[in-house]
Amino acid sequence: MLSLLLTFSCQQPVKKEQPQEPTFGIVIHGGAGTILRANMTPETESAYRKVLAEAIKVGHAILKNGGSSQEAVEKTIHVMEDSPLFNAGKGAVLTADETIELDASFMHGAQLDAGAISGVRTIKHPISAAIKVMENSPHVMLSGAGADAFAASQGLDIVEPEYFYTERRINALKRVKEAESKEKETSSLEAEFIKHQRYGTVGCVALDLKGNLAAGTSTGGMTNKKWNRIGDAPIIGAGTYANNATCAISATGWGEFFIRSVVAHDISALMEYKGLSIQEAAHTVIHDKVGGMGGDGGVVGIDWKGNVAMEMNTPGMYRAHMDAVGNLNVKIYKDE
Ligand code: ASP
Repeated sequence: MLSLLLTFSCQQPVKKEQPQEPTFGIVIHGGAGTILRANMTPETESAYRKVLAEAIKVGHAILKNGGSSQEAVEKTIHVMEDSPLFNAGKGAVLTADETIELDASFMHGAQLDAGAISGVRTIKHPISAAIKVMENSPHVMLSGAGADAFAASQGLDIVEPEYFYTERRINALKRVKEAESKEKETSSLEAEFIKHQRYGTVGCVALDLKGNLAAGTSTGGMTNKKWNRIGDAPIIGAGTYANNATCAISATGWGEFFIRSVVAHDISALMEYKGLSIQEAAHTVIHDKVGGMGGDGGVVGIDWKGNVAMEMNTPGMYRAHMDAVGNLNVKIYKDE
């Protein structure tokens, strides 16, 4: 009986295998959606590949030098938040009121510590604000003006809201509003285009040499969002999750479906409770669960052994992986 009690009181997830040789790895995404070769110029495509490579190399160098997965995730995401190509930080999409509302979250796999911010308007690097919430507040999630004020009190870079605006996103909002106003006549091609405008979130997951997993996600959310809509990106368990016993996950896609499917935690849970591999778990959740409900998007993930998943049910997802040896894979289209 005592042994039975002990078994039940030790509910910490147990790694079934022996500890391995320390290794490290990093995976990133820059959003999933209707990313088609037909709509891409060679210049645009190479611009995306260049920033993805630049970003992941920053994190890889940190990990290679024995730095933490937390720092790797934060610094890698900064590069993508600074790039106007992605829907995070500079270049974020606009709300229906032509404002910017940024969401981000971060989770550390050792103690299941987490932090998140939602609907912020002045923080240059939202991912850093999420990390500060985790480290320096008694809370997990802050929102709106309070989150902006907290970030300022932490000494983070604060910018004028205008900093985030780009012509591309202003035009995208116009087109989405026009399409919305004549919704009934909208062709399926236009509908696809509108969906595409919604994606471009960035995320990073990493495993460091100490065996710590970390995950972070940063986004402007969806073009034309209303009523302070919040997506999955700042929701721990939906858009972001990390647990040293299983994996680190960052998601991108149609947020409402990712919240309802609790995507990131579900992948971890399938590994923890059912013994699935990270690839099997990510495939099941993205295709059977999210896809089964009618949602679309993708995830990147890395497990405690350095195995990775880059799964999507969209035509493309900006993504890259770099392993401990330094092999770099940058991909855009699903069939790559
Ligand atoms: N998941 C994000 C959201 O719903 C959008 C994206 O991934 O691009 O806010």
